[in-house]
Amino acid sequence: MEQPLLRVEALRKEFPVSRGAIFGADKRVVKAVDDVSFSLGSGEVLGVVGESGSGKSTLGRLVLGLIEPTSGRVWFEGEETTALKGSRLRALRLQMQIVFQDPFGSLNPRMPIGKSIGYSLQVNGILSGRTLQDKVADLLEQVGLSRSHATRLPHQLSGGQRQRVGIARAISVNPKLIVADEPIASLDLSAQAQVLNLFKELQQQLGMSYIFVTHDLSVAAFMSDRIAVMYGGKILEMAGRRQLLENPQHPYTQALLSAAVLGSWQGQVEEIVLEGDPPSPISPPPGCKFHPRCPLAGPLCQVSEPELKEVEDRHVAACHVVHGVSVDQAAVPAG
Ligand code: SF4
Repeated sequence: MEQPLLRVEALRKEFPVSRGAIFGADKRVVKAVDDVSFSLGSGEVLGVVGESGSGKSTLGRLVLGLIEPTSGRVWFEGEETTALKGSRLRALRLQMQIVFQDPFGSLNPRMPIGKSIGYSLQVNGILSGRTLQDKVADLLEQVGLSRSHATRLPHQLSGGQRQRVGIARAISVNPKLIVADEPIASLDLSAQAQVLNLFKELQQQLGMSYIFVTHDLSVAAFMSDRIAVMYGGKILEMAGRRQLLENPQHPYTQALLSAAVLGSWQGQVEEIVLEGDPPSPISPPPGCKFHPRCPLAGPLCQVSEPELKEVEDRHVAACHVVHGVSVDQAAVPAG
């Protein structure tokens, strides 16, 4: 079997809850990412969908090594990045880039955008002088800007143009993986469509893999080959785009689908209105984290957390009912 570009195994990230020394040590933690495993093929786009607080952005940062996991492991092209340090880790990190939600916040306000785009190439000693300038000019054109934009400052560009700069900066070092973290969420509607199309064109031209983090299932449906649905730090369902949209299994995915505007997939799921809020990350409910909002929940769901298991080939879901377990009793049936 071909080696995946990326493999993530049992990744966890807990953040301590700080309430000030006056009340003594508070040992509670927020489980931002809780036992997440998946792999990503070369040239594959994985959409990671979830509401605010689902852990999707933290997952993207863990994969890139921007934050350290509490436990779990990440491999990139067969090398365990979570065990690497120093120059080898820096070299591997160049292969993995991020595009942030807020392009303005991620650009130095006093640095001309040409310099921002060429920064990684320059500091890593990849290009300099005239060749660097030419490469920056090419990158600007590749993302739909003109060479003359190189001398402008971030505040002189529109939101959509700034995000194009963020994309140019990410692709400047020929990465194999880009984590796009809600990259259109801060843009106006017309810029959103243009930037999404640019992501798609570049992926097709350059063959990169994306982890495309979004709260919007329609964006994931447009961009992705495979979709993972996150809730309370966990993946609740993951499948190929078609499988997930045409045959959603988890009640949460079904609720997201019923609320999304999805073109040809529209209307294939009965409308389900989700009530209540996502789980508190500090004190999540016991059992299935979705049970307070789930229309199918039974007593078992309040005490037993379902495992993420296969429903069909390359399609997994974490729900007792989906796996044929009766939820009417408060204990897992024997056998
Ligand atoms: Fe709903 Fe229970 Fe399935 Fe969780 S395990 S999604 S609460 S039916």
